[in-house]
Amino acid sequence: MNYPEFRPPAERAAVIDLAAIRHNVRHLAHVVSPARVMAVVKADAYGHGAVETARAAVEAGAAWLGVAHISEALALRAAGVTEPVLAWLHTRNAEFGEAIRANVDLGVSGWDLDAVVAAARELEMPARVHLKIDTGLGRNGCPEDLWEAFVGRALAYQEEGLLRVVGIFSHFAVADEPHRPETDEQLRKFREAVAVAEDAGVDREVRHIANTPGALSRPDAHFDLVRIGLGMYGLSPFAGQTSAELGLRPAMSLKTTIAACKEVPAGQGVSYGLHYRTKEPTTLALIPLGYADGIPRVATGAPVQVDGQTYPVVGRIAMDQMVIDLHRTGIAGTADSFEGREVVLFGGEGQPSVDEWASAAGSINYEIITRISGRVQRVYVDSAADDDASAPPIALEAAPGAQDAEGEQAQAVQAK
Ligand SMILES: *Cc1c(COP(=O)(O)O)cnc(C)c1O
Repeated sequence: MNYPEFRPPAERAAVIDLAAIRHNVRHLAHVVSPARVMAVVKADAYGHGAVETARAAVEAGAAWLGVAHISEALALRAAGVTEPVLAWLHTRNAEFGEAIRANVDLGVSGWDLDAVVAAARELEMPARVHLKIDTGLGRNGCPEDLWEAFVGRALAYQEEGLLRVVGIFSHFAVADEPHRPETDEQLRKFREAVAVAEDAGVDREVRHIANTPGALSRPDAHFDLVRIGLGMYGLSPFAGQTSAELGLRPAMSLKTTIAACKEVPAGQGVSYGLHYRTKEPTTLALIPLGYADGIPRVATGAPVQVDGQTYPVVGRIAMDQMVIDLHRTGIAGTADSFEGREVVLFGGEGQPSVDEWASAAGSINYEIITRISGRVQRVYVDSAADDDASAPPIALEAAPGAQDAEGEQAQAVQAK
């Protein structure tokens, strides 16, 4: 049998192209200059690996890092990341003292200001805080009518040497829909809040409000810093624009190999519930990824690519596996020849997109990449197509024919 030479570097791999991350950061840094980029690496860098992504982003010019939880910031510090890191979502159980000790900046909106100060007092070390104003999203952030008093409280603590107000920030609600008027309103409120704080005597380093969609659609929202998540991973936040149109390259490809393949008669039921039945004799291929790997169970119909051809998932997606119908029959050895072939669920140009999976799942691209579970190995590559001369030399364990469908050289640098 003519078995393909390609073997992915893992049974199930989320292949992360660090060159794509660097490209995206450089591109976005250029777009927002002279504002700086905060690379948002919360949620294990949307599934891409927080430490690896943070390092690539910093190498490409990100000046700051951003995470939701203090524990995520501490993990970056433990890995030796020394750039400024901001964490903005806390509970009463958060390790404020550890954060202060590790020089982690803290976003504060209300009660957390006092909790941070209590920890600073105990440690006798000043905290670095960013005061957050709710300009309309309705999540955390100090309400407008309490802002002046909140700023006053922070300044009093600063006088006492318990903290330093490093930043003032907010977060957009609808920047992914650029025509909506609420973003103008949020910007107006943000400027006002900054003015109130500055009039009260706040001497901040940075003002920041824009996420990826804000950075791309609102030059008037860049201020000193933009917090970039999705764009760094090479995906588009806009319904009407692809990542390629935005100059971005998807960094994650989800790959595995066909685990089994067999010829079946017409009328064969497929997967739990038997909701799919073959209409004619055909060949079914078993894909060894399921909802335990973070594939949405509802995404039946989503595209899976084999040898440049795309097949929809048929039948229910199960915990560990799903099935595609190759619509092939009567060719001796078909099933044998497909077993072991590489399959791509999503990836870059010429491959099914994260957006197609999002639409099959009734979700958004953010969720598809972020939910890929720990059962899927992250494999880091550095595509030679990189425009970056500083790319490290590559070549560990490059499997024979380690080349994807486009012939783009992608070699394993490191697998954790
Ligand atoms: C997640 C997050 C971001 C990043 O948003 P993207 O749309 O992925 O760029 C920025 N700021 C805050 C507060 C966030 O929670």
